[in-house]
Amino acid sequence: MIKECTTDAFEISLKQLEKAAKHTNISKDVLEILENPKRVLIVSIPIKMDDGKLKVFRGYRVQYNDARGPTKGGIRFHPGVCLEEVMALSAWMTWKCAVVNIPYGGAKGGIICNPKELSDSELERLSRGFIDAMDDFLGPEKDIPAPDIYTNPQIMAWMMDEFSAHKGYTVPAVITGKPVDLFGSKGRDTATGFGLFFIARETMKYLGKEMKGVTVAIQGFGNLGYHTARKFFEAGAKIVSVSDSKGGIYNENGLDPEKVMEHKNKTESVIGFPSTKELTNEELLELGCDILIPAALENTITETNAARIKAKVIVEGANGPTTPEADEIFEKNSVFVVPDILANAGGVTVSYFEWIQNIQHQYWDEEKVNCEMDRILTQAFMDVLEKKKKHDVDMRTAAYVLALERVSEAMKLRGY
Ligand code: NAD
Repeated sequence: MIKECTTDAFEISLKQLEKAAKHTNISKDVLEILENPKRVLIVSIPIKMDDGKLKVFRGYRVQYNDARGPTKGGIRFHPGVCLEEVMALSAWMTWKCAVVNIPYGGAKGGIICNPKELSDSELERLSRGFIDAMDDFLGPEKDIPAPDIYTNPQIMAWMMDEFSAHKGYTVPAVITGKPVDLFGSKGRDTATGFGLFFIARETMKYLGKEMKGVTVAIQGFGNLGYHTARKFFEAGAKIVSVSDSKGGIYNENGLDPEKVMEHKNKTESVIGFPSTKELTNEELLELGCDILIPAALENTITETNAARIKAKVIVEGANGPTTPEADEIFEKNSVFVVPDILANAGGVTVSYFEWIQNIQHQYWDEEKVNCEMDRILTQAFMDVLEKKKKHDVDMRTAAYVLALERVSEAMKLRGY
């Protein structure tokens, strides 16, 4: 049975698309193609568990659109994975790659599982099983997976190895997010966080505001939240609050992200960090701060809490944290929202660099990775801003207009 979805993420992605399409001259036919994924793969992965019993896992891969190049997107291991959500995430990958103008279409995958309950060897068999089931549809020129929630460089290494075993030779470029010691790129682990900071920096420049002294709250102090916080801290911003799944902490004088991470590594949560007040994740969103960064889950900012959000700038780290109803409230309240498909595109941009390095068999230093990412993201910010000014729309609609125009132009030129 296919798992039923509780999220309306795909509906949301369609609403965002339709809103933007009104500002383009894309035909109804092209729009209809763009409202549907090109390919949906559903597989069963039988795994022998450590106790000798067999368990069958369900896996998905959605290849949404490949007009601009091979499809690209992560694989999520999570009990809540469902097809509608994977479809939404694959659509967002399509628009994200187009916004930053890298030569990829969009895809996403997932396996319904709880990786915290699996041993390393079960995880390895599951990762290899996913590749066995999908192998014909993947490849450096077809579809290139990457890590996502609860998948990591080790899992990417097993997947790359399994794919290579099928081909009979090593194919590093089939997957990105590999360990640096096994064809990975330097700077991939910090890419999304640093990229978000570059976009926030451009946002503040555009709004005519200083970064120094600006107050920032970050929901989700994981990979993305932590590396973003480091950059803001270096730039003189004040990180007043961060959180994880157990709750948040607040200090009006600012937090040092390195020290908070040390505490989190020791205690498994940011909670209890000295000289801080505890607060809930809901309270964090509604804090009086200058910049709010949702960097945890989808659908956290909705019509229920949007009106209470006091930050005047929101830079989206998570995919799909804001619903269209919340967006309308922000428009009325003049909150400047930088959308996920621009703000968190640093990760896929460096994944693209990893793919280039694998294909060319040449490896870059970290400085080159970060400089090139900054250049690409800054250009993307300018391109989105141009659409915003031209159509007098919010940043999300502007980013979608840009992406839609780029994808539909590729479709037209290819003669779809
Ligand atoms: P992560 O697993 O490293 O960190 C997630 C953090 O969110 C953890 O600290 C976790 O405790 C916290 N969290 C979980 N549930 C929460 C809740 N209900 N309230 C508050 N915090 C909660 O993941 P990540 O790589 O930092 O990714 C965060 C988000 O950014 C995800 O939505 C992911 O899809 C998105 N994203 C990440 C990347 C990337 O390259 N890391 C790229 C694009 C988008």
